[in-house]
Amino acid sequence: MDSKQFREAAVASIDEIVKYYDTIEERRVVSNVEPGYLRKLLPQEAPQNGESWADIQKDLESKILPGITHWQSPNFLAWFPSSSSFPAMLGEMYSAAFTGAAFNWICSPAVTELETIVLDWLAKAFGLPSCYLSTGPTNGGGVIHGTASEAIATMIVAARDKYLREATAHITDEEEREDAIAIRRSKLVALGSAATHTATKKGAQIAGVRFRAVPVHAADGYRMTGSELRRVILELRAKGLEPFFLTATLGTTDTCGIDDMEGIASVLGELAPEGPGEVWVHVDAAYAGASLICPEYQHLTKSFDRFHSFNTNLHKWLLVNFDCSTVWVRNRRHLTDALSVSLAILQNQHTDSGLVTDYRDWQIPFGRRFRSLKVWFVIRTYGIEGLRAHIRKHIKLAETFGELVKTRPDLFEIITGPRFALTVFKIVKKDTTLEEQNELTKKVYNAIVEDGRIFLSSTVVGGVFAIRHNPATPMVEEHHVRKHFEVIVEVAERTIAS
Ligand code: PLP
Repeated sequence: MDSKQFREAAVASIDEIVKYYDTIEERRVVSNVEPGYLRKLLPQEAPQNGESWADIQKDLESKILPGITHWQSPNFLAWFPSSSSFPAMLGEMYSAAFTGAAFNWICSPAVTELETIVLDWLAKAFGLPSCYLSTGPTNGGGVIHGTASEAIATMIVAARDKYLREATAHITDEEEREDAIAIRRSKLVALGSAATHTATKKGAQIAGVRFRAVPVHAADGYRMTGSELRRVILELRAKGLEPFFLTATLGTTDTCGIDDMEGIASVLGELAPEGPGEVWVHVDAAYAGASLICPEYQHLTKSFDRFHSFNTNLHKWLLVNFDCSTVWVRNRRHLTDALSVSLAILQNQHTDSGLVTDYRDWQIPFGRRFRSLKVWFVIRTYGIEGLRAHIRKHIKLAETFGELVKTRPDLFEIITGPRFALTVFKIVKKDTTLEEQNELTKKVYNAIVEDGRIFLSSTVVGGVFAIRHNPATPMVEEHHVRKHFEVIVEVAERTIAS
């Protein structure tokens, strides 16, 4: 494809993408193809000779789109959203045009410098304490990872190495120190609440440390409390284990619960050992962190200056296309101490000068994408005020949905929310047991998915099977939320009657 052909193909593609977005509502929101559908539609072997773009593009509608679930449809209400916007798409396009591995500052200085700048902008816009700024008092700073799971695994690795380094710093003999590290590593425990996303457990697996869940209870709104955390830490220490890392969640996946940040901070202060051994606290705000762009949510960051790191996925709720998980640390040295590599081919005068950031030392992969470009385009196109309006619109839409649900106490009971635009509810029927209600809610949920007009996700909260409604997809408007409710009522009534 030469540049003339690229221009024609790009124009045709943009036209098709715009049409896709303009008519997305007409499509069945969730794909209903059979597993293996695509193998039947594509040739057994790769083409020997190149094909024209027109031929390739034609196959998108007939072969690929049937297997696409339309996450940008206003009828997509499942899990958490995966945001999209046109400026972010343009950012992806330019990023692809300037493509490079960008592991060092000199690989493309703009890639590093824009990332540092937009993450400082966002840290300020989110009301994060100054310790997370690259110019702040503790040598903090932000970096963009692909996903929250990657960010959490990376923080666990940094926390593990910091803990072991500090715990064995007094041992001068190298071999003795290595032995001590190996013994203590086997005792390390990463913690998260029972409602924490499995990303923390997976991160612990990757880092070769244990994971323990701090129980949560319905009476506390399924959030981790300081008292349960204290109990678990003391129990673990009594067994000779060493808790070194904790994920505190702002917006749990099931119900958007918020762990008791103040309680966690004060218990960890109280249980802090003399000398080394502090617990690294990471705040996982993968979805709900976007709300911090609005001043009315920024009181939630009050304890963050006593924590060590924070992540939120701009690709979930802040109009940046997948992937874009922003992460801030209060001290970047803890990342670079754990992840820094030196290779002869990497030597350059800028790294040697110590004046530049080499983001390869802040992450697990070596090479990296130019993700900050799409963030910059989004912030400039919408402005912070536009982003606030985006969040507030969804909060209001969820409130409308919550009010509608409350008009039918004969059919529905809200379990949690609306919280951060998420409402979790179940189906009720007079004189039924919890098991019967669970069975009924599951039936209604499956019938809604099969019906195909809207797509929701389900969960189990404290033994209760529940349906989640999250209208935080950019294209959702009030009339859509009213339609969602009508569909849910219609299917629920039909299912109960049958
Ligand atoms: N943390 C929370 C609170 C989440 O809700 C999710 C996913 O929804 C994750 C982490 C994992 O996100 P990712 O897919 O970016 O790894």
